[in-house]
Amino acid sequence: MTIDPSDDQYYKELLLQSPIAAYTCDAQGVLTFYNHAAAALWGRHPEIGKDRWCGSWKIFHPDGRPMALDECPMARVLQGTELQQEEIVIERPDHSLRSLLVFPRPIFNAAGQRSGAHNTLVDISSHKKDEERSTIWSAIVASSGDAIISKTLEGIITTWNRGAEKIFGYTENEVIGKKIDILIPPDLLAEEKMIISSIREGIRIDHYQTTRLTKTGQLIPISLTVSPVKDKQGRIVGASKIARDISVQHRQEEQLRQTAQSLELVSAIGKIISEKLDVNDILQKVTDATTKVTGAAFGAFFYNTQNEAGEALMLYSLCGAPREAFEHLGMPRNTAIFSPTFNGEAILRSDDIRKDPRYGLNSPNRGMPQGHLPVVSYMAVPVVSTSGKVIGGLFFGHPKPGVFRQEHEDVVSSIASQAAVALDNSRLFEEVKTLNAKKDEFIALASHELKTPLTTIKSCLQILQKTDDEKVRKLFVEKSINQADKLNLLVSDLFDISKVEAGKLQMTVERFDLLVLAQDLIETFRHSRESHDIALSCAVQEVWVAADKQRIEQVLTNLLNNAIKYSPGAKRVYLQLQQSDTGITVTVKDEGIGIAPDEQKKIFTRFYRAGSNPNISGLGLGLYLSREIIERHRGHIGVQSEPGKGATFYFNLPLRHETR
Ligand code: ADP
Repeated sequence: MTIDPSDDQYYKELLLQSPIAAYTCDAQGVLTFYNHAAAALWGRHPEIGKDRWCGSWKIFHPDGRPMALDECPMARVLQGTELQQEEIVIERPDHSLRSLLVFPRPIFNAAGQRSGAHNTLVDISSHKKDEERSTIWSAIVASSGDAIISKTLEGIITTWNRGAEKIFGYTENEVIGKKIDILIPPDLLAEEKMIISSIREGIRIDHYQTTRLTKTGQLIPISLTVSPVKDKQGRIVGASKIARDISVQHRQEEQLRQTAQSLELVSAIGKIISEKLDVNDILQKVTDATTKVTGAAFGAFFYNTQNEAGEALMLYSLCGAPREAFEHLGMPRNTAIFSPTFNGEAILRSDDIRKDPRYGLNSPNRGMPQGHLPVVSYMAVPVVSTSGKVIGGLFFGHPKPGVFRQEHEDVVSSIASQAAVALDNSRLFEEVKTLNAKKDEFIALASHELKTPLTTIKSCLQILQKTDDEKVRKLFVEKSINQADKLNLLVSDLFDISKVEAGKLQMTVERFDLLVLAQDLIETFRHSRESHDIALSCAVQEVWVAADKQRIEQVLTNLLNNAIKYSPGAKRVYLQLQQSDTGITVTVKDEGIGIAPDEQKKIFTRFYRAGSNPNISGLGLGLYLSREIIERHRGHIGVQSEPGKGATFYFNLPLRHETR
């Protein structure tokens, strides 16, 4: 069909075929015309002359609120409102939505009256989608914890997200337009060149681990992914880079590595010290290893030990400081800071010990003594043996704050437990060694002591065999009996020792007069030990006690025998019985060789013989047994003496007592 452009039909046909959706209404809003594009957009063909204002099925405001048909832009224009353009959303019969920009305009007749309106509809759905997508992307980029940055091929920063701000410390305003070099440590600038040349070739860089510089100059480990950015023509115009801060990961890896290293160290040190039996060696190995693993400036191991006489000694080993650094300072154990460790209460770890409320409480130093190495970071770990006894402590110091961490505490605790076992073993080994040496010494001594009276008895018997002289016979029979008594005493002591060791020393308590017992004993001694007189003094007529008579006699015999034995130049020893409200005290005094002060406690231990009497026979058992007997009666035995000025032994028995 050919149509003349001067004909109205020409324009109508043109409008009908136009790809731009359009329709018209009369003054009442009744649809008078719409084209194909409008029908396609609405998804329906409204009825001309019947449908009003708009051909769409349902209409909404852009925010999703429904819009009544008589409120649609076309209706409002017909009511006289002037509108440039408006955005609406329509729903089509198939429920799909379309975003539209509408341009309703009034139509006037020749008389200038509003006779209807026309409307043009532009589908902006795809544009809206793009906008939405880009909003979502922007939100994702903005909220990412990773730094997402784009830059030109010349390295000029063009975009910068919040993640980047958080990781590198610069705000967007501070970096846009600047060179990316501000983030690169100077020694790694060559790396950026390599990255850019890869990008120019279109090669993406994935998870490249490197180091970058923050605004505050801190170096942080990051993982980089850099991709080329292309323009619409596909030309590479820049690079987008995602940088992930991997400090935490690094820290965790480092911690894992340290934990593995610590475990290795704990097991290695455990092995080393379990093979060692020398205390000083163990202390030193443990101090060195723990000082190293904690990063302490210096470490010390204080070890409480006892010598044979039960005296407390303190050994210590040091690492990171010369012995002179501590030697003159002494070791105050009872200060508020130290005592929790020596009492085994708890581990003390402080980032700054000077801020601890207990610091500086104790005089005279009120803090670190003068000349002490500077200590700010402090850690002290008690070393507790398997029996629960605190055997020492490991101490660490550092002049800087915050050096010691939980993992250090854990490692040192493990090593401390192993050290405790090793030290226990070493102590047991030492004990066994000493006991063994004592046993050998004792066997030699006992053989000698037993042999001497036997030899004398044998000589007496030989003389008796040869002589008929009654006087001589009597003398040698008496001598033999004396020696047999001595032998008996020795063997009894040996028996008693084994009973004490086995906890089987029996006590049979009876009431007896100690004065009578003393007088009987003196009588016996008068015959057997003629060299000395025993002077008895007692202010009362009777001294009644409840005790094991035989054992008390054993103690008295032993003390009197010793008094005579160890005063070879004297003629007399003194025995005194005293009674008080609380009990009785027995004193045996001699004018003999005396005992050095440092030996006065030791002579009551097993097998101990003082050094001043090498020529006087004995087994070192008598006083040990005497102490055992007296203590079983809940009494006390002791000595006062000065070398060369005799000795005064005493024991007391409480009036009311029960034997143990
Ligand atoms: P023993 O006399 O058999 O050696 P003891 O246990 O009775 O054993 O005495 C232990 C040590 O104490 C003696 O070896 C001696 O060195 C010292 N001792 C005991 N009594 C006296 C004393 N009265 N005077 C000096 N030393 C004494």
